[in-house]
Amino acid sequence: MRILIVGGDAAGMSAASQIRRRQPSWAVEVFEAGQRTSYALCGTPYYLGGVVREIDQLVTLTPEQFARERGIPVHTGHLVTAVNPARKSITVKDLATGQSRDEAYDRLLLATGAEALMPTGLEPGPAGLFYLRSLDDAENIRRAMGKAKSAVVVGAGYIGLEVAENMVEAGLEVTLLGRQPAPIFEEELQALAAQALSRPGLTFRSMTDAVGLSPAPSGGLTVAVSQGEAVPAAVGVVGAGVRPRAELAAAAGLTLGVKQAISVDRFQKTSDPFIYAAGDCAESYHRLSGAQTWVALALGANRQGRVAGFNLCDEPEEFPGILGTSIMKIFGLALARTGLGLEEARRAGFPEAVKTVVKQHSKPGYYPGSTPVTVIIIADRATGRLLGGQMGGTLEGVGQRINTLAAALSTNMTVKEASGLDTAYAPPFAPVHDPVVIACEVAAKNLKG
Ligand SMILES: Cc1cc2nc3c(=O)[nH]c(=O)nc-3n(C[C@H](O)[C@H](O)[C@H](O)COP(=O)(O)OP(=O)(O)OC[C@H]3O[C@@H](n4cnc5c(N)ncnc54)[C@H](O)[C@@H]3O)c2cc1C
Repeated sequence: MRILIVGGDAAGMSAASQIRRRQPSWAVEVFEAGQRTSYALCGTPYYLGGVVREIDQLVTLTPEQFARERGIPVHTGHLVTAVNPARKSITVKDLATGQSRDEAYDRLLLATGAEALMPTGLEPGPAGLFYLRSLDDAENIRRAMGKAKSAVVVGAGYIGLEVAENMVEAGLEVTLLGRQPAPIFEEELQALAAQALSRPGLTFRSMTDAVGLSPAPSGGLTVAVSQGEAVPAAVGVVGAGVRPRAELAAAAGLTLGVKQAISVDRFQKTSDPFIYAAGDCAESYHRLSGAQTWVALALGANRQGRVAGFNLCDEPEEFPGILGTSIMKIFGLALARTGLGLEEARRAGFPEAVKTVVKQHSKPGYYPGSTPVTVIIIADRATGRLLGGQMGGTLEGVGQRINTLAAALSTNMTVKEASGLDTAYAPPFAPVHDPVVIACEVAAKNLKG
């Protein structure tokens, strides 16, 4: 048996490791276009800000370690240019020599990830404009930040926000362009995000799109915008969203699904019985809506890779699904969410979804370090079921708290049931009635009202 994997990061290497563990005698080989494996893209904004000092700290296992310690050969610098399902082979280009060759597989895993969306007029090319999608990108941006005094960041989603924050921390004067900050959150939390962005070193221009780009006469670049004056800066980073990297699959005739991600079943199998897909390039099953969705997050990618590994070894394993649980930091503010937002819930078949907003404190008022926490609960009036939760507050106040709601959602609790959770209490950690429990209690009353 020969299993080939395209893509050597979270999903691909989780699968490779699982296959090696389950079937030590089978051949498993990975083809990776870049030079690194198992790296933490999530840490790259913090490399820009100097929190992470060396880029290699973001690499969990190198290709050499995979070969030596796990017996998994990784062909780095090898771009897979075609999948040929009829011949059960892939076409691989060695980027060092320019030579192409075909490699035969018995089973194939596509773990090609996602790629940055490039708004019209902001295509890469001009000196000083970057996209952050690899460790090489991060190194190039940090190098460009070296002598720069100013930066423009396009997009106020989580990548744009994290990049802007870290550039400010590194001492640059940053202009952030976007519609609203943190668009995946409810408006009450977007207002908190806007407050967090109001600080020295950062100008947030809301409802402003970047529409074009030109080299600035004095060096650097100038970004033309949909309203107001153009923004000059030494460095520009675009964080305008991502899309699944699914061209190989599409060209091979595999079925694509939500947002053109590779369509997979709960076992990560594609429309071809010998080809699996996992991670950001593939769809995910949403635990609440029961529908396929597309969410590009690290835990789901790792987990899908692991599940694919089992199934590629003929051990049936079902992907449990995602809730889209995520968390982000904007200076001292943490925003977190799990499950569905209000509009998402209504679109997903819960027309009676209701939102409850509650403000509580992270600890008893008398205990030092108690801070406000805003908790938003989305619940279904028809059934009382908890559909989603969001939170805003300090890092400590929000940090692990969102996971209580994620666990409650995973077990299909009603808000009434969640309001009865036996949560931990001691003054240094939480008030006797945790903000999550209180918010669910208020939501349960709201549903009745
Ligand atoms: C700046 C940033 C911050 C992030 N922060 C967070 C966070 O805080 N929390 C979170 O949950 N998620 C975060 N993410 C998302 C997370 O990094 C991804 O969900 C995760 O990396 C997906 O893993 P993957 O293996 O599916 O794809 P990727 O990590 O994209 O890996 C795909 C690999 O496939 C290779 N490849 C692609 N096409 C080919 C080909 N044709 N031939 C050979 N090789 C190919 C690529 O070179 C790449 O190495 C962040 C992402 C970015 C960019």
